[in-house]
Amino acid sequence: MADIIRLLPDHVANQIAAGEVVQRPSSVVKELLENAIDAGATEIKLIIKDGGKTLIQVVDNGKGMSGTDARLSFERHATSKIQKAEDLFNLHTKGFRGEALASIAAIAHVEMLTKTEDDEIGTKIKIEGSKVVTQEVVVAPKGTSMLVKNLFFNIPARRNFLKSDQVEYRHITDEFHRISLAHPQVAFSFYNNGSDVFQLPGNDFRKRIVHIFGRKTDEKLVPVEEDTQVVKISGYIQKPEFAKKSRGEQFFFANNRFIKSPYLHHAILGAFEGLIRPGTHPGYFLNLEVDPGTIDINIHPTKTEVKFDDEHTLYAMLKSAVKHSLGQFNVIPALDFEQDQNLETPYAYKGKKVGIPQVVVDASFNPFEEVKKYKGGTSGNYTKTSAKGWENMYAGLEVAVDHPSNNNSTLEFESEVVNSSIFESDNEAADHVTHTFQLRKKYIITTIKSGMVVINQSRAHQRVLYENFLKNITIKEAVSQQLLFPLTLSFTPSEIEILDEIKDNLCTVGFVFGEVSNEGVEIKGVPVLVAESEVQMIMEQLMSDFQQEVPGDSFSQSDMLAKTLAKTLSVKTGETLDEFSQQKLVNDLFACKESTLSPFNKKVYIMITENDIERKFI
Ligand code: ADP
Ligand code: MG
Repeated sequence: MADIIRLLPDHVANQIAAGEVVQRPSSVVKELLENAIDAGATEIKLIIKDGGKTLIQVVDNGKGMSGTDARLSFERHATSKIQKAEDLFNLHTKGFRGEALASIAAIAHVEMLTKTEDDEIGTKIKIEGSKVVTQEVVVAPKGTSMLVKNLFFNIPARRNFLKSDQVEYRHITDEFHRISLAHPQVAFSFYNNGSDVFQLPGNDFRKRIVHIFGRKTDEKLVPVEEDTQVVKISGYIQKPEFAKKSRGEQFFFANNRFIKSPYLHHAILGAFEGLIRPGTHPGYFLNLEVDPGTIDINIHPTKTEVKFDDEHTLYAMLKSAVKHSLGQFNVIPALDFEQDQNLETPYAYKGKKVGIPQVVVDASFNPFEEVKKYKGGTSGNYTKTSAKGWENMYAGLEVAVDHPSNNNSTLEFESEVVNSSIFESDNEAADHVTHTFQLRKKYIITTIKSGMVVINQSRAHQRVLYENFLKNITIKEAVSQQLLFPLTLSFTPSEIEILDEIKDNLCTVGFVFGEVSNEGVEIKGVPVLVAESEVQMIMEQLMSDFQQEVPGDSFSQSDMLAKTLAKTLSVKTGETLDEFSQQKLVNDLFACKESTLSPFNKKVYIMITENDIERKFI
């Protein structure tokens, strides 16, 4: 038999390998920005078009490359950053694999322009699908410009796999945030489709955070500082009261590299325990500086997980450092105030080895002690508020249901629908639901002729609200309540962009917007179901949901909006419902088009028949 194994041609091998490094446009952005940082640039410009699919350009003023190096840089495993295996344990650069440029050049049209300080003249190389098209000597400024066009031009399957421009743009923004936060001293600018997204002057860490996440962020930050032999921790946490529904603002950097660490994240949650509302996430921007020999950077090009030698010690130190900062901030708010004044030198007090007389940490401090009306609380006081809030919600629902286009909106009507679904006889339906019982503040139990139904209260309410909102969006005639004093909520620039996309749909459910600026949004009216105090929470939830996934068409956008609103506004497990509310919920649920599943496809109720019960008694 003839031999059948053959070596793949280089360009095919390169394409396959490229899949590892370049998953989407943001991977290219990451690699190019990191190369610019490694080249010692003090100014980096990022330009993208169409979510990076048609164009990504990174221009730096770093050390540049000689003609030979420029050509070599596109070879696989060509790197100037390490020479031997041991160097891997003493890394001071972002790159070390020598794969990025080879991979990018295998699957895109690339143009590199580069010049070193010493050379008179620069080099321009055009390379497409791993083939060098031209190499010329040209006049160029010091530094490197990398232009990457038509990503995946030769792998249509990969190109089709890319998400919408908006989603890809969001991934790029995330990457930009991570790298520009890790290197605050480097000036960055970012242009998307010709418009200017960020102009970040080289600065200290605090100012960089504020530039990226908006002016309002400044007052939220509390410094964290801890210098030990194992690790130097520095950076900021956000004050507990600013904890958000979304996880967006959580950043760990190890030796100036963005990392993900569920384990260390847990340490922070531990430090914040009892200080933040359930269901919200603390924000943090923390740098960990360790000996490069004690950290194992993942060898996989796109992974951000790392391994620390002494993770347990790190965990304990991080937790105590964060706790310490939280304690200080509770007891001496003036310290924080001073900090704000000292923007130029945020570390000014560093090294003064805490000259403040005894810092007494009030361990029992709980900012929510007085705020009993918060959902999810369990005090006796709360139950009452909850029941009232619940009725209010219904008052709203009725207004909405009572819409002219819905000519029959009474309870009787709803019961007729009930009739067809699970209640067996007409009689029973006509009586509607008479007996209900709440179990463990989670389930509502009611009887039917053949036995009983156990309903998950939260999922049931989600279903009711979801259908209601969806209807409002479809008929575009939601009922809105005017706010006496318009609310101004502040958002980050990327959140404002999301808001722009979903604003029209938000109006159809009853939101009324005033002025939208770079800093924030004025809200003049809200849907009847929404209490003023809930607006902030709802908007945050919306941003966070849409940030994770941008629905492509307007139908799925409406669907997502209705889901988010339903999720946020529904009664939760742990809330006591009075009997009227229980029955109303049961009736409304069975008046829904689809009562068996929640909007998130979870079972809403189960039935236990008399037979089932009989069998248990045998
Ligand atoms: P790595 O960064 O892992 O070394 P890359 O493929 O990203 O591998 O780059 C290959 C080499 O090209 C780098 O080691 C560096 O010497 C050179 N290089 C890449 N980008 C730049 C740049 N912007 N400025 C100067 N040199 C660069
Ligand atoms: Mg690199």
